[in-house]
Amino acid sequence: PVRVRFAPSPTGYLHIGGARTAIYNWLFARRHGGTFILRIEDTDAERSTQDSIRGIIDGLTWLGIDWDVGPDFQSRHIAEHRAAAERLLASGHAYRCFCTKEELDAKREAARAAKRPFKYDGTCRNLPPEEVERRVAAGWPSVIRFRVPEGEGAVRFDDVVYGPIERAWADIEDFVIVRSNGTPLYLLSNAVDDIRDGITHVIRGQDGLANTPRQILIYQALGAPLPVFAHMPLTLDLQKRKISKRTHGEVVAVQFYRERGFLPWALVNFLVLLGWHVSGDQEIFSREELLEAFSLEGIGRANSIFNYRPGDPKFFTDPKALSINAHYLRTLPVEEIAPHVKAELEAAGIWDPAWEGERREWFLATVDLIRSRYHTLKDFVELGRAYFSDDFPVDEKALRKNVLKHEALREWLPELADRLAGVSPWTPEATEAAVRAFAEEKGIKAGVVINGIRTAVTGQAVGPGLFDVLAAVGQERTVARLRRVPA
Ligand code: GLU
Repeated sequence: PVRVRFAPSPTGYLHIGGARTAIYNWLFARRHGGTFILRIEDTDAERSTQDSIRGIIDGLTWLGIDWDVGPDFQSRHIAEHRAAAERLLASGHAYRCFCTKEELDAKREAARAAKRPFKYDGTCRNLPPEEVERRVAAGWPSVIRFRVPEGEGAVRFDDVVYGPIERAWADIEDFVIVRSNGTPLYLLSNAVDDIRDGITHVIRGQDGLANTPRQILIYQALGAPLPVFAHMPLTLDLQKRKISKRTHGEVVAVQFYRERGFLPWALVNFLVLLGWHVSGDQEIFSREELLEAFSLEGIGRANSIFNYRPGDPKFFTDPKALSINAHYLRTLPVEEIAPHVKAELEAAGIWDPAWEGERREWFLATVDLIRSRYHTLKDFVELGRAYFSDDFPVDEKALRKNVLKHEALREWLPELADRLAGVSPWTPEATEAAVRAFAEEKGIKAGVVINGIRTAVTGQAVGPGLFDVLAAVGQERTVARLRRVPA
């Protein structure tokens, strides 16, 4: 049975690249009825923070990525990592190295001067056991090094994404697995945890590829079966740079999308497409469709492109991410969108509990009416504020163009307001009839009156059909807003 894990190091926020790795693992586990483990790799005590751990867990939870085991913490297993190193010592797959930092630095320097690559020269590789014992007893500090096999051999494996990979033993130095202070190195801890957890598929970022040959040597030395390895391609920006917080800012953090009004599944859908494809050009996948279609083989080797242009006011992130979010915002059942809109309105301080009670139908109809033009949940409180509050922003340019510029309209606005105050019942049909009759009577084009009312009532130049808008805004507010227009 499939067992996979997401193993983030909690040294920062949850990055969209990390989230993508988590999503691939999760999809793979769910698709195969397997187990998905969340393991926080917190052994770098200096760089790991509680905030980061919380951020990772909150981010995954928000995305709807659930795990079956965990969160486990790598730091809980240090004794086990050391015990594995002891086993490797006992079986001769590792040895104690007493070379001092100064000695190694001098050799490294000499190699650099001679323009040779530096590789540990094996000074301590074949110390007689009595000598090792004597030094340990005498309190000499030592690290534990892995004994890479000698000879012509190589580590070979078949990465699901990158294909066959081969690394000659001769090119791998005897690497340190435990420091002189007794702390295991990450390379060892990660492999020992994967062995203990029975991980069948290691699905991780491309940066793990460089570690894989050494980890395979550890697996082999410990007599453990190898997992399948699948390394995810990098995600680059349009200039082919790795996307990072330093270069790109908040746009690479999952939290950013949450704050900017993304629906969690829309972000999952977008991230999955950064590197994975099925034949055809389908881009929208429901959870069920994705579980049906997902396979590791669909992950391409080509680096994926995060199409983000910093400073472009129209797109604060990849336009594809926005269009996918807009798609879900506009097409999911309105009952599914409503709780998200409620959360936005609450955060903006303009939520009215009646919208969940006696005015629920009005609320759902209004959300449904205005969402067809929106890209994010923020649009409900920004562009759509006038539907929920009397304190809404007015697009000054639109006001000038649609109201102030038209003398006849301005002159007759108070009368139009009175006329609408008398409409009953307040239906789209009735307001339309009243507005058209009024325009005709005063000799103003109906279009001018319609645009003028829209801007006065919603603060915007565009929106859904005006008479539906008026029905949603309500009679009292419509009339008051028409009266409020500066003459
Ligand atoms: N802790 C590693 C990272 O965050 C994960 C490596 C792995 O998945 O094996 O990069």
